[in-house]
Amino acid sequence: MTSPSPSSEPFKVVIAGGGVAALEAALALRALDAERFEVTLVAPNEDFVYRPMAVREPFAYSAARRYAVGEIAADIGAALIVESFASLDVGRRVARTESGAELHYDAILLALGARPHPRFPAAVTLDDARLEELMGGLLEDVDSGYVHDIAFVIPARVAWPLPIYELALMTARRAFEMNVELAVTIATPEQQPLAIFGEGASSGVAALLEQSGITTITSAHCEVPDGRHVVINPGDRTIDVDRVIALPELYGPAIRGLAAGEHGFIPVDVHSRVRGVEGVYAAGDATDFELKYGGIAAQQADAAAESIAALAGLAIEPAPLHPVIHGILLTGAAPQYLSAQFTGGRGFHSEITDEPTWSPPAKIAAKYLAPYLDERDRAR
Ligand SMILES: Cc1cc2nc3c(=O)[nH]c(=O)nc-3n(C[C@H](O)[C@H](O)[C@H](O)COP(=O)(O)OP(=O)(O)OC[C@H]3O[C@@H](n4cnc5c(N)ncnc54)[C@H](O)[C@@H]3O)c2cc1C
Repeated sequence: MTSPSPSSEPFKVVIAGGGVAALEAALALRALDAERFEVTLVAPNEDFVYRPMAVREPFAYSAARRYAVGEIAADIGAALIVESFASLDVGRRVARTESGAELHYDAILLALGARPHPRFPAAVTLDDARLEELMGGLLEDVDSGYVHDIAFVIPARVAWPLPIYELALMTARRAFEMNVELAVTIATPEQQPLAIFGEGASSGVAALLEQSGITTITSAHCEVPDGRHVVINPGDRTIDVDRVIALPELYGPAIRGLAAGEHGFIPVDVHSRVRGVEGVYAAGDATDFELKYGGIAAQQADAAAESIAALAGLAIEPAPLHPVIHGILLTGAAPQYLSAQFTGGRGFHSEITDEPTWSPPAKIAAKYLAPYLDERDRAR
């Protein structure tokens, strides 16, 4: 096995991915010691799209913001290869791209995101890249009174927690403002709505859903036999609706050259090290961490950056992941701010507030990426 570069040479870090975890890690390494690291980003996407804001697109807000990955890489001082990472040779510390290029690394961070798959083929499955196309027609049908009942269904393995609640709340609000009758139901396997945010926040969300006239069916394991029925289990109860909207199920990227965990996710420890493989790290939705969330992806990326810095010989005690989750719940009216300290099951010290409790109050609460994007937005 090749050993890492001696401290006189730059420490080569390859970051595969161009999303939240990848960019956060690149910014974190720059902040830790810009001179020590030679960072190469490998990502096929030319733009970084601010996905959480995509939920507003069907409601005639402007499109989610996009930032050129090339510009971000240039700001960070990282090289960028615009193509897909393909495989890993961990013995030689080499990453291969789809075109066959070989990149030698001292450390590599896999930040490849998750792969969404429809769980209920008969339902409309959320895809944030084309939400307006998927939901625009539905909202027109609501406005004109053709659609009276909509079910929003969460599969057994919760994917991203916020967007389906946001879409349900915004749809209900829109019907209220248009003065049309609409029954909105959310069916979720969670024991309480947004249970991952802990008791305080979750109770606040439950109250908000009730005030908005939304029926929430919790502990529900659903089937969608066709586009007009949802079967709720246990109990084998069927509800009749006009449309069914569902979250996808997520799978990991299953990387050639690396043993995959359950559902293809990459197993990591609290320092974002891939278990049993030296110099290989992973962060974000691609990992086996239970919660798939931008803020968590960023915190895993920060943990990885510190761990990589220690490997590179910097005098640093890498901090393990202590997940804290912040979320802005868009409602169609005033947003709500959710916070929780995550402990593996439910959060503790969990709250819902009318004002943000973190700064900048970004939807993706990321130590380095949030202020960086905030500054870019202000400069625009
Ligand atoms: C509609 C919606 C709303 C959301 N709202 C919120 C919210 O309010 N707050 C929040 O914190 N989170 C939210 N999330 C979740 C958040 O977007 C994700 O958890 C976050 O993007 C995960 O970051 P990531 O870097 O792991 O993956 P991603 O951001 O998905 O990035 C993965 C990157 O890997 C790249 N990639 C894929 N394959 C390859 C390959 N072979 N080689 C190289 N690169 C590759 C992709 O092009 C992409 O750049 C939301 C998600 C959705 C869909």
